[in-house]
Amino acid sequence: MRKIDLTNFQVATSETARQINRRIALNFIRRNEPMSRADLARCSGLQRSTVSAIIDQLIDEGWVTEGAIGQALRGRRPRFLHLNVERAGILAVDLRPAITTVGLAGVDARFVEQTSWPTPKDPEVFIRQLARTVTLFRDSHPRIVCEGMGVSVPGRADRSGRLVFAPNLGWGPVDLKRLIEAEIGLPVVLENAANACALAELWFGLHPEHVRHLVAVTVSEGIGVGLLLNGQLVHGGDAMAGEFGHVSVDENGPPCPCGNRGCWERYASNSAALEYYRGDGQASGARPAMSFPDLLQLAETGDARAIEALERMARFLGIGIAGLITGLAPEAIMIIGEVTAAWDRLGPLVEYVVKKRTLPHAATRIVPTVPASQPRLRGAVTLVVQQHFGAPHVA
Ligand SMILES: [Zn+2]
Repeated sequence: MRKIDLTNFQVATSETARQINRRIALNFIRRNEPMSRADLARCSGLQRSTVSAIIDQLIDEGWVTEGAIGQALRGRRPRFLHLNVERAGILAVDLRPAITTVGLAGVDARFVEQTSWPTPKDPEVFIRQLARTVTLFRDSHPRIVCEGMGVSVPGRADRSGRLVFAPNLGWGPVDLKRLIEAEIGLPVVLENAANACALAELWFGLHPEHVRHLVAVTVSEGIGVGLLLNGQLVHGGDAMAGEFGHVSVDENGPPCPCGNRGCWERYASNSAALEYYRGDGQASGARPAMSFPDLLQLAETGDARAIEALERMARFLGIGIAGLITGLAPEAIMIIGEVTAAWDRLGPLVEYVVKKRTLPHAATRIVPTVPASQPRLRGAVTLVVQQHFGAPHVA
């Protein structure tokens, strides 16, 4: 039960009850479509007349469509209700230090269009390029009415949508939400990429309906952790919660750009694996620049040093994940990043380390996310989807 916050509350009106029932109906249809009004009354426990009033309104607003006529043993044959996934066009942006991907999707997070370009070094250039992409998308899909944009960022943004911490992006504090909104004329939601991935798992993942505790670990240049506990994202007092990548695992470890020493991400990220491969102490400039996918490819061909580097990375991933499991006891931990492509080889090693380092009754599942499902981009869609389907704010 949540304590009522007397500085941030909303009193209940008769409209509140209607809003809650409307969202419940909309979510039942989203989850169980096609379903009839009678099915909906049965599942929700709402009166038939209440269900009909809600459905009429949802049809009027374009959220629900009435489709084929079903079969009935006797009486009136029911009409099936469907969610209109095209009701709201959602622009999704996955902003990463090297590459930015922009997509256009419906409320089912299926993309009708997407494109990628190298992320500009200057945020102002980024915003102009983003606005051009949005115009192109809207011109080529004039039928889709865009409702808003979700942006997953490789860092942390405060409540106002100001980017406050993005060491791998190299941008200073920038008022990203306000600047993008001014440029594209649509509401923008900004969220840390790992948080957005955790949210996408809750709304679009293949978990049982009652799952409420999910942790997403994004493994790339650094490591991000998204915490979804009790069904809600955890932001912490200054929006910085989840920076487990910068929790020190060795006080004498290598320095990290964050200013700390021996941070977890210095041992378990893609950059760490590349450093292991090059060999500690060797100047990275001495060899041609190599990417993490190159390293995966080398391991695939049986290169012993590449395999060893990846296995070392996997062991450190396991150590950190064990800490997350012991400390937070989530139902599942999702792993997101290129490393999942080698999960056949590395997954068992991660599981082994986790098993050795967690409490005997720990029951968290570790689930690699298929890169093809584009978890970060799907997460950006979810930021807007939840505004239409999430529980209304009361008390
Ligand atoms: Zn650090």
